[in-house]
Amino acid sequence: MPPPRRSRKKPDPRAEPRCIHCGARDAEVISLFGTQAMTLQYRCRRCGTLFEAIKYD
Ligand SMILES: [Zn+2]
Repeated sequence: MPPPRRSRKKPDPRAEPRCIHCGARDAEVISLFGTQAMTLQYRCRRCGTLFEAIKYD
């Protein structure tokens, strides 16, 4: 049995990721490579928080 997930809804791959700090969808890509190969590094334009998000393409 697969592990449970918080959400089964697939995010829109074209949508900008949501800031983990303030929740704004207003982030710019600062690095194509995060700590994992499947992640991108973003910086929130609103609060300046750096975070990573999974890239879908
Ligand atoms: Zn933010």
